Amino acid sequence: MIHEQPAANSLFQADRNPHDSRMLEFEEALKRILEAVPAPVSERVALAEAHGRVLTEQVLAPIDLPGFDNSAMDGYAVRAAEVALAGRASPVRLRLAGRVEAGQTFAGELASGTCVRIFTGSPLPPGADAVVMQEDTEPEQSEILIQEAVKPWENIRFRGEDVKCGAPLIASGEILTAGRLGLLAAVGSSHVLVSGQPVVGVLATGSELKEPGKPLEPGQIYESNRIALAELTRRAGGKPKIFPLIPDVLAETRAALADAFNQCDMVVTSGGVSVGEMDFVKRAVEESGGDVQFWKVAIKPGRPFVLGRCQGKLLFGLPGNPVSALVTFLLLVRPALLGWQGARELRLPFHNGKLAEALANPGERRHFMRVKMMADGSICSAGIQASHVLSATAAANGLVDVPPRTTLPQGSSVQVWRWD
Ligand code: AMP
Ligand code: MG
Repeated sequence: MIHEQPAANSLFQADRNPHDSRMLEFEEALKRILEAVPAPVSERVALAEAHGRVLTEQVLAPIDLPGFDNSAMDGYAVRAAEVALAGRASPVRLRLAGRVEAGQTFAGELASGTCVRIFTGSPLPPGADAVVMQEDTEPEQSEILIQEAVKPWENIRFRGEDVKCGAPLIASGEILTAGRLGLLAAVGSSHVLVSGQPVVGVLATGSELKEPGKPLEPGQIYESNRIALAELTRRAGGKPKIFPLIPDVLAETRAALADAFNQCDMVVTSGGVSVGEMDFVKRAVEESGGDVQFWKVAIKPGRPFVLGRCQGKLLFGLPGNPVSALVTFLLLVRPALLGWQGARELRLPFHNGKLAEALANPGERRHFMRVKMMADGSICSAGIQASHVLSATAAANGLVDVPPRTTLPQGSSVQVWRWD
């Protein structure tokens, strides 16, 4: 890896603005975002409503799983010692003493020389210590020929072998997956304590923007950030609320922000956060009585990125370039959304793989390059790495963090931050 130190002061530029206008390192920016995120507020919901939600209580198992010793097979409950010599050529005859279907119990104890018809999940009759599978038996009038020996406790699922009563089942901060919901139901939970889901206002600024589906005038482009940001919001557990397009006019930007802050728990905007005289988001925040905590992060794409606060709520001002908006959301807003819900893991999942081609970052900022990771773990660039090139983003399923002035050679092992 070719990795030189960045030139002194190239990443930190002080200016005279009252807020922190240094260009923050990524980790510093993320730390400050997470510090600004409020603690989760819990609510009790039915399991059927809980998928994808973040658990805010530690759940202890209220019962054993399985709740009783039971059969793992359809077959016959026996005393193992009595069939120890059984074989195809030397079957052991046992008298059929009863039948226990799943959901029933056996009255009494299994007597010597007898067996009991049993099904998968049926409670093991007292006195029995093994189950012979049906395929190894032959009924003959009121007797059963056992044609295969079983060891003591063979084909039995023991009480508590899955989960012991009182054991920690799922930790607070875990996201409720289908498997975890099944586990909760299996121990009898009907409701769980989860964090509320933030309503996230999704706004886009830019006088050039037009709603998809309508004809374009000369110079106009279709607005494409809100749909992508709303979906990423949903996938991070938030409830997106899409607002109308905002032209590059200070008063309209201010009014739109006020509207969004009144209706939402946090607000994500795109565009209008750079240094141009038509970039109004920072000013609109400040003139609405809010403040800008910082607005530059040393990452590519996405150097202009505003963390603001208005009415005690957070504003994330993303750059307008579609790739920058998407990447900064994944790196800096997604963790905030998950943190808001009390999630334990805030980072994108990392996957290790090998570069099928070199990735070069000649620039001064960390470049989160869009890559495509194949099923075999090989990784290639998803296409042109410019912040307006959506086709490469559409082809990508992850990001590789390439340090400044570094080329990661073909064949090197890297971590991919997976997001699709
Ligand atoms: P800005 O950050 O407002 O300076 O915008 C940077 C670039 O991204 C410009 O080319 C904009 O036209 C484009 N852009 C801004 N917002 C959007 C959006 N919501 N959808 C598509 N392109 C956008
Ligand atoms: Mg703009």
